Amino acid sequence: MRQYHDIKDEHEGAILLFRVGDFYETFADDAELVSEELGITLTKRNNGSDQTPLAGFPYHALDTYLPKLVKKGYRVAVCEQVENPKQAKKAGRKIVSREVTEITTPGVTMSEKLLEHKRNNYAAAIYWEGKKAGIGFADVSTGEFALSEVPKEQLGDLLQSITPAELLLPQNLKNNVPEYLLDYNMTFIEDWVYEGDYGYNLLTEHFETHSLKGFGVEDQEVAHVAAGALMHYIQETQKASLGHIKRLHKFENNEYMALDGSTKRNLELITSIQDDGNEGTLISILDETNTAMGGRMLRKWIMRPLKRMEPIRERLNAVEALNVNHEVRDKLRGELDQVGDLERLISRICVGRANPRDLVSLKESLAQVPRIKMQFNQLEESLLVDILERLKLLIEVQEKIENAIAEEPPTSVRDGDIFKDGYNEELDELRNVARNGKDFIADTRDELAAETGIDSLKIGYNKVYGYYIEVTNTHTDKVPEHFIRKQTLVNSERYITPELKEVEEKILSSEEQSKSLEYDLFEELRIEIAGYAEEVQQVAEALAELDCLQSFAEISYHNNYCKPAIADDQKIDITKGRHPVVEKTLPPGDPFIPNDIHLENEDEQILIITGPNMAGKSIILRQTGLIVLLAQIGCFVPADEAHIGLVDKIFTRVGASDNLAAGESTFLVEMNEAANILNNATRNSLILLDEVGRGTSTFDGLSIAWSLAEYLHNQPSVAAKTLFATHYHELNELENMYDHIVNYNVSVKEHDDKVIFLRKLVRGGADHSYGIQVADMAGLPTIVIERAKEILKNLESHSLDVTDSNGTLEEGAKKKKAAVKKAAQELEKQEQIDQMSLFQTQLDPHVEQLIDKIEACDPNRMTPIESLMLVSELKKLV
Ligand code: ADP
Repeated sequence: MRQYHDIKDEHEGAILLFRVGDFYETFADDAELVSEELGITLTKRNNGSDQTPLAGFPYHALDTYLPKLVKKGYRVAVCEQVENPKQAKKAGRKIVSREVTEITTPGVTMSEKLLEHKRNNYAAAIYWEGKKAGIGFADVSTGEFALSEVPKEQLGDLLQSITPAELLLPQNLKNNVPEYLLDYNMTFIEDWVYEGDYGYNLLTEHFETHSLKGFGVEDQEVAHVAAGALMHYIQETQKASLGHIKRLHKFENNEYMALDGSTKRNLELITSIQDDGNEGTLISILDETNTAMGGRMLRKWIMRPLKRMEPIRERLNAVEALNVNHEVRDKLRGELDQVGDLERLISRICVGRANPRDLVSLKESLAQVPRIKMQFNQLEESLLVDILERLKLLIEVQEKIENAIAEEPPTSVRDGDIFKDGYNEELDELRNVARNGKDFIADTRDELAAETGIDSLKIGYNKVYGYYIEVTNTHTDKVPEHFIRKQTLVNSERYITPELKEVEEKILSSEEQSKSLEYDLFEELRIEIAGYAEEVQQVAEALAELDCLQSFAEISYHNNYCKPAIADDQKIDITKGRHPVVEKTLPPGDPFIPNDIHLENEDEQILIITGPNMAGKSIILRQTGLIVLLAQIGCFVPADEAHIGLVDKIFTRVGASDNLAAGESTFLVEMNEAANILNNATRNSLILLDEVGRGTSTFDGLSIAWSLAEYLHNQPSVAAKTLFATHYHELNELENMYDHIVNYNVSVKEHDDKVIFLRKLVRGGADHSYGIQVADMAGLPTIVIERAKEILKNLESHSLDVTDSNGTLEEGAKKKKAAVKKAAQELEKQEQIDQMSLFQTQLDPHVEQLIDKIEACDPNRMTPIESLMLVSELKKLV
């Protein structure tokens, strides 16, 4: 127990699985927790005066139980016996030495049971100083290690695009974690790790460089601290070599289009709003990748659309080439399908977790490379040519494995039969002895049978007696003297002879020796192959890109997407655009209705889109956002034609139901998001606003929506292209007041007091909300609908003088429009007057007198009578 406690103390915050013989045991609090989480029995162990709770499981169940604990967010340290009792005795120890050999955490794991093929598993460390925030993130299962420095307020969005499985923070923040980080699985690291040059030195030591200049990150001092803390944590937990982490990647957030958290959520890029699942997401449509690396890269591409024209065009041209050449694409897909997860294979090889089959997998995957290259080497697009060049044939690696490892090796490295004959002389010799021994035994049987005249004499083997001679009871009388009886069974007797034992000794010891030699040889070969990690990683990366491009080409072909024209201008022009996900989910017989969208800064900058509920406003907003995003990740788009002027950021304020769980009011969430948009949008951004102001009273909401639209129109720095869906028809007046605001509506037809949704975006404002008809269609009882109509009529006849309850709807609407317009014009006039008065420095003498009088009085000291007198005095002056 003392040994246990010492080790437990060194691994604070982790569950300690303590190897005792054939079991992993946990004690005390760990035992209670483990028994609860895993549903295994909790027992008590009498440990002197106190009774220590204890829970354990057999060693072979580790692979089942450990991942379960880690999935629940725990960190688990596995403590092994690192010597056998014989060795301990020899060294004069009463108990065997034990050591923690590995710590598995949600963010740092190589376990296949915990990893998803098409998803990276990141641990991220963050640190900030003043306004700067640094972040380091790594996936130990693939060897990716990156750092970045951003303004502190962007940290939340950056983390969201990385979605780390574990977030590392300095200990001193433990009681002061900012709210936007609370949802992450957090681990706190001792504060000293963040001090001085510790982190920087750790990084240069690991990458074996004098400085970080070669990685282009020498000046990112805040990021060094974060990345250093991450390296510290990975080294502490992994224990094994981290030779597969070869490069320090500089992550340039500025290279990518900015997507804030709510936009990623609202556009349902990789998780659905409803249940965080995959269904209904953009990635569920886009993922036709055939390799795990490709799948992981696709996620990154979707979360990080590009901003510069050249790389986007390169991707689009490559996709086009693969899109038109069906045969190339089909064959390529077939070949890619045969490639294993190179990144994770080479990582396992580097950290010493690979088995012989992993090497064969590596060999076979590399052997696919020339076949893959052959499929597309005639295509001339620059990106494809570049990928072709990066796909190096690692023949040497293949040959090394091919020459060494048997065709179908076992998964274990300890049981022999890994290597081919002829690979190693000593191994061949040992194997010979064992094989010859076995032949010798077969010969011995024949000789003994002849000698004794017992034809049925057998030689068998078991673990207790080793080799033995078996004679059935009918023949025991013929057994010669020198047979030594060992065991009596019901029908037979078992014997040994000294010669048999001699051969046995030879066979067994040579078998044991050859197994241990194979183990050593495998280790040697593994280290040799690990030396090629960087080359294999480069091939893996090139394959991943190729896989993403063919996936884009495949879905573009099958879903009838078009190649967008990308330009450095401020125009978005989409002809017959569709929503990539909704178009695939509509029931048969309900076709998706495409729509055109034109947005241009100096022309139709803000579209006010009205129309009844359910008309299709949100879909138009979202599809526009998705089409722009698709274009900028280099994919074709669901439209007949599209011109996309590059966008630097997409903002959305969509829907009102999310975030309610976080306990914030709808309105507050809405306003936070609106504030974020107004503070961060630029002229090159795309803003999608859906029903802003819904969460408050009508007049409040309308006023906010109105002034928001004005601000986006009038402030040159934030004058972004905007789609503004609203149920406030009053906003249609803005078109008359501002040059770049235009009205559209999603049209409906009224027929027999019912609404028919046409789903077409047309010019002009909608003047009727059809709320009651839509409610009727939804199946509200007739009596409620009829009463609602009465109330509406009543309200309309009383509301100022704008509606005409006796006239037609159109007339009423026209009058209302005219009245609002008049009000708006008056407002404008008033504003002009106000502005003019600012310039009138010479005041009217009457006014001056008035001001003097008011300034001279002190309301706190006046009696009621005095105040009345003052009022009448002032009145006289006016
Ligand atoms: P709104 O925002 O106007 O209330 P939505 O955009 O949410 O309406 O659309 C409501 C529903 O109408 C969608 O869920 C979808 O099923 C259908 N829909 C919307 N746009 C289209 C379209 N262009 N073609 C076919 N169906 C559509």
